Amino acid sequence: MLRIFLPVAAACSLLADAPPSSLNPQVEAIVSQVSADRIAEIQKKLESFGTRNIYSATDNPAHGIGAAREWIAAQFRSYSPKLQVSFDKHRLAKQGRAFRNVEIWNIVAVLPGTGEPERQVIMSGHYDSIHLVYRAGADGQRELDPEATVAAPAPGVTDDGSGTAAVMELARVMSQYQFRKSIVFIAFAAEEYGLFGSGLYAEAAAARHDLIEGVFNNDIIGSDVTGNGETSNRHVNVYSEEPNDSSSRQLARYMKQIAERYQPGFEVNLVFRHDRFGRGGDHSPFNAAGYAAIRITTPMENFSNQHTATDTFANTAPAYTALVAKANAAAIAALALAPKAPELELPPPTQGRAFASPLGRGSGYDAVMTWTNKNPEPDLWGYAVVLRKTTSPFWEREIFAGNVTQFTLSNVNIDEVVLGVKAIDKNGNESLVSVFVNPPYQQHKIETY
Ligand SMILES: [Zn+2]
Repeated sequence: MLRIFLPVAAACSLLADAPPSSLNPQVEAIVSQVSADRIAEIQKKLESFGTRNIYSATDNPAHGIGAAREWIAAQFRSYSPKLQVSFDKHRLAKQGRAFRNVEIWNIVAVLPGTGEPERQVIMSGHYDSIHLVYRAGADGQRELDPEATVAAPAPGVTDDGSGTAAVMELARVMSQYQFRKSIVFIAFAAEEYGLFGSGLYAEAAAARHDLIEGVFNNDIIGSDVTGNGETSNRHVNVYSEEPNDSSSRQLARYMKQIAERYQPGFEVNLVFRHDRFGRGGDHSPFNAAGYAAIRITTPMENFSNQHTATDTFANTAPAYTALVAKANAAAIAALALAPKAPELELPPPTQGRAFASPLGRGSGYDAVMTWTNKNPEPDLWGYAVVLRKTTSPFWEREIFAGNVTQFTLSNVNIDEVVLGVKAIDKNGNESLVSVFVNPPYQQHKIETY
């Protein structure tokens, strides 16, 4: 990306501050401390519970979901006294694939922010597992055998022991550091039966008006070879919902930009759709509740192992999971350190004009961007505007605007480009981009006679 510093005087007077795009030593340290060996140990332990089906044993100290959730919570507690660990319990009624009432427990570990703790960044995976067992149905079609499914071994090491292990390892490493915002590490339950744990959590978060800046949901990040022999451990897929400038898409772009800065040999491949075909994940209930949320998944899925007894440690790749965990670590740490994103609000309408917009044409042929700056962080450095063609996937230019709330790009046609703005602090930490979007056309009722 091209970086242009327009206000020369402002830039020169602030040379002592860290420029944007520089590597933050705290983020570098965190990324370097993520351990493939520790991830492997966690995955082996998760496998040892035999199954983490939501209907499996809750009173056995070594087998089933009860033992697994107690162990995960105890691990979180052991990492740092700063982590606030709790079970988020729900009484799930029989519905859909959930064939009888069951209590489900999400495991939540909060690392409180030291500057703006009300703002949260969530990292998640699901710790429940399933081994789908089918039987012949009355009409000759196969149907799920619910009791046999509960009884079957379900090691779930890649789906989603890998995501759970990444969440736990990042909780261990990141809880040794301080962040401006709170980081919430969550192991969700009942993903396999219909996204129930995340659905209930997201619904409650929206009702509480939780300020969640982004959800990084990791599901199936443990496989680097497909069932037909294709192999790669140099990239990961990140899914984000439409439209192209949704807050989730900005989160995905942010992850790519930051993660590849700290781990340049590992590609964060953005997929511009909400999920894989016919599949679901715990990011989606957050999208439905209005939050920015992305799904992080290996492109090298082995379908023959998923939801079977062969989703084992022998068939997973902790070294690959560690690379994906490091990509998460860079983006989550950077976002949790960063100031909040600028707010784009309509200024009060000026006299004689019905419409006012945070993006205007100025004298007629300029791009005039206006944003608000409520309770600016004391270490705020300023704002940068970004732009790209409407057909370009990624931001192409970045221009530092200074510590201002309005900025004009002369002779830029606002109809041809997408424009955004982000906040940057004096350590070079960058917020998410707020985008000046053109709201969709709304058809009004046409009267006829
Ligand atoms: Zn999964």
